[in-house]
Amino acid sequence: MRGNPRIAIAIVTASLAIASSASAAEPKRFLGFRLLDLENQSVKWETPRQRVGATVTYAFATKLVTTEGARNCGQMLPPDKAYTPSGIAQGEFEREVAAAFRMWEDVADIKFRKIDDDDTADIVIGAQAVPVGRAFTNVELKPAGEPGRKVIARSLICLNPAQPWKVGFDGDLDVYDLRYTIAHEAGHAIGLDHPSPAGQLMSYKYDERHQGLQPGDIRGAALLYGARSGGPSFSRAASDITTGSTGAGPAGETKQGRDFGIGAGPDTPPR
Ligand SMILES: [Zn+2]
Repeated sequence: MRGNPRIAIAIVTASLAIASSASAAEPKRFLGFRLLDLENQSVKWETPRQRVGATVTYAFATKLVTTEGARNCGQMLPPDKAYTPSGIAQGEFEREVAAAFRMWEDVADIKFRKIDDDDTADIVIGAQAVPVGRAFTNVELKPAGEPGRKVIARSLICLNPAQPWKVGFDGDLDVYDLRYTIAHEAGHAIGLDHPSPAGQLMSYKYDERHQGLQPGDIRGAALLYGARSGGPSFSRAASDITTGSTGAGPAGETKQGRDFGIGAGPDTPPR
């Protein structure tokens, strides 16, 4: 997605999770996540209030799904166009998608429910009609009905049908794992952005170094939707974060990863 001028802007203002050691009075620790910033606000499902849970439906595109004005995924086909050429069966694909959503359910007070109707689903997953990058997410906000902050109206997740896909890690960074990719896109679809090049699932490098959510991912999801009771311990997460990678880390650290090739809404700069 390098060089697409339409995908630009708002990460600039999403400074919440960025380390700033230059601030003398109160140096901020890198928290390992960054909230999506759309129209100068963080965004989430159902209510703008942070740490309040939500239930979100998802469906697979069953036809050409056209979304006027979408920066990403403006035209989507059924997702089998993306995974069938890689020899992946429908049941396997749907299990991987469910497992990807479960990662977020396991740590935050957000529930995902699969439905059949791609016209009414909150999140629609499909194959790009016009292949680009690897996978993208489009996050659309509801019109400002109530005064104050907007909430997410619909998210689209689209996979490039011209790229190979796989189930599971095998060290080949040219072929992306579906579960990891969908989990990353789902993170965008619920309001998270890229915190750093590497180190978190929401980082924009695909590197197969970790399979599940990392401390920053968990922290971000918990901030938006509330921590799942019985979920991972935060004290453990905090200690991991201080020794983990940071957004300001040298680029050389991430040489082994591949750029994810992902955008979220109108906000993500080309990467
Ligand atoms: Zn991304």
